[in-house]
Amino acid sequence: MSMDNEIRDGEVATDWSGETDAGLVFIGRIYTPWSELGSCPRAGRADGPLCRIEMFDPWLPALAGIADGAMLEVFYWLHRSRRDLLLQCPRNDGVTRGTFSLRSPIRPNPIGTSIVRLEGRDGASLLVRGLDCLDGTPLIDLKPDRSEFIPMALPKPGDFQVGGTRS
Ligand code: SAM
Repeated sequence: MSMDNEIRDGEVATDWSGETDAGLVFIGRIYTPWSELGSCPRAGRADGPLCRIEMFDPWLPALAGIADGAMLEVFYWLHRSRRDLLLQCPRNDGVTRGTFSLRSPIRPNPIGTSIVRLEGRDGASLLVRGLDCLDGTPLIDLKPDRSEFIPMALPKPGDFQVGGTRS
């Protein structure tokens, strides 16, 4: 969806007031080569351009233990997204679907994630590859890539039934 927040045929918005239930703190800012939504890739690539994650001062000590070469999951706030669409019609296929069946940036809490490789550092900045967000996107969290922390077999489609029981 949307380069400019227009609603397309078939799309449906809620009348949510904009009131929120929790607060976030931006812990840094992400600098990428993409200044227009239309030029951003739809997903990050391991061989994508080098991007810079600038950490804000108070949070620098929290990087202790992250080594160059580490795979990190980056969480960012897709600050240019509208937040009220229930049904969306992505530009690439024109099929209308529910927001929660898509990785669209348009969602009630517009959080984006990418897995990146830490290529190096430059002062308070991390130099990474694998991002897909606009230049200036706010950073909300960093975590080690989750694949290092999954002790059991990953669930397959169909492993869960309605009601939460596992087949
Ligand atoms: N990789 C993330 C994920 O899976 O959660 C984001 C995927 S989303 C499909 C990527 C698209 O979000 C980009 O192609 C661009 O159109 C849009 N986007 C990137 N940065 C944004 C921002 N700061 N605000 C709003 N939209 C953004």
